[in-house]
Amino acid sequence: MDVSKTKIELPVASAVITCEGCGVCCTEYSVPPYLDEIDFIPGELQREVYAARLIEDELQAAKRPCIWWDASTHKCIHHDERPNVCREYEVGGELCLEARERLLR
Ligand code: SF4
Ligand code: SF4
Repeated sequence: MDVSKTKIELPVASAVITCEGCGVCCTEYSVPPYLDEIDFIPGELQREVYAARLIEDELQAAKRPCIWWDASTHKCIHHDERPNVCREYEVGGELCLEARERLLR
């Protein structure tokens, strides 16, 4: 899916940034960004990630959002098993604000 065709409307005029209805950071990478912690998620999910890595260049070229991002809910379908970098991504932090800004450009 070409994310440029995915309708994302960020909440406006809000002093508080939340992930509700956003998910922009999940549209910037096509493959869940695991490091070694991938060894601790269920094997079925590991296989999904390894399969996506094999075609990562094609997914990125097609501007596909993360394979685990649900475009209808704007949420991660495997939130409990998400990579550490996704857990550490700060809502309202510098990277978050930059990602949201890129979408609005
Ligand atoms: S961390 Fe920021 S960019 Fe990511 S979903 Fe939440 S508000 Fe959106
Ligand atoms: S939170 Fe989930 S959908 Fe978003 S980038 Fe991480 S693994 Fe992908």
